[in-house]
Amino acid sequence: MIEGIRGLHHVTSLSSDAVRNNAFFTETLGLRRVKKTVNFDAPEVYHLYYGDEAGTPGSVMTYFPFPGIARGRPGTGEVGTTAFSVPADALEFWKKRLSGMGVDGLKEDESFGEKRLHFGGPDGDGFALVETGDDGRAPWTGEVGADHAIRGFHSAALRLRDDGATAELLRYMGYREIDAKDGVTRFGIEGGNGADFVDIETMPNIALADQGAGSVHHVAFAVKDRARQLEVRKALTDTGYQVTPVIDRDYFWSIYFRTPGGVLFEVATNEPGFDRDEERAHLGEALKLPTQHEHLRAFLEEHLQQITDRGTAW
Ligand code: ZN
Repeated sequence: MIEGIRGLHHVTSLSSDAVRNNAFFTETLGLRRVKKTVNFDAPEVYHLYYGDEAGTPGSVMTYFPFPGIARGRPGTGEVGTTAFSVPADALEFWKKRLSGMGVDGLKEDESFGEKRLHFGGPDGDGFALVETGDDGRAPWTGEVGADHAIRGFHSAALRLRDDGATAELLRYMGYREIDAKDGVTRFGIEGGNGADFVDIETMPNIALADQGAGSVHHVAFAVKDRARQLEVRKALTDTGYQVTPVIDRDYFWSIYFRTPGGVLFEVATNEPGFDRDEERAHLGEALKLPTQHEHLRAFLEEHLQQITDRGTAW
């Protein structure tokens, strides 16, 4: 079994509009934008990161906003719902806030004994807030007070046609089956960073998703450092997974592999973090470019959509 996976690190999704995306995550959900950079492979597209004060692994939602791309078609082989953790009794506040701000798809239910509020992101992205009584993670309180603010991720729910091989993979990664109900199996990890759950929803008759705006591109799991990451990489390749070489993502190091159910997994390091090139007090303010794209700065500053932030919260 693989040692050292510490829960989720980040979730990366696709968006059709950087400005709307930024406003939704910073103003509506009250997360902090912790980095404004560009896609390594397509530098004319932003890579925006939102999370807690420091962008702590387990709190970071990231987006590639490709201007005007078509919406994805939901289906299997993808993350269906990304859930954030909020304090006990916070859902009433969120229901009022989100409905008052015109957010779509509000629906309350309960999952494994926890109260949950589903809502849609700006591109129809599948999100939920889950009331957890014992989440000790400190929230960012830019727009939403500490009594209600998001603590970080609670879980990611994978929608799969066939759950068997992916369940086996999660167990190999150190997850333990906690419960199963209504076609959903919950896995949890001991000693995680708070973003400790992965759900598998089995839907054998649903077609594979087509990715587009509102789709999750990949989900990343956290490891402490590069030494641990190399051990994880070896364990995965020894088991037959095709894993990419270690890639420098400036704020963490990454390896990627496609899971049997079709979802793209990443294993990312907690080092070096988002304050590598900006002071903690000013995270996310300046446009940061990967070194190899620095020569494009003048062009990018002129052509990237201008993101205007409200207020002085950051
Ligand atoms: Zn990633």
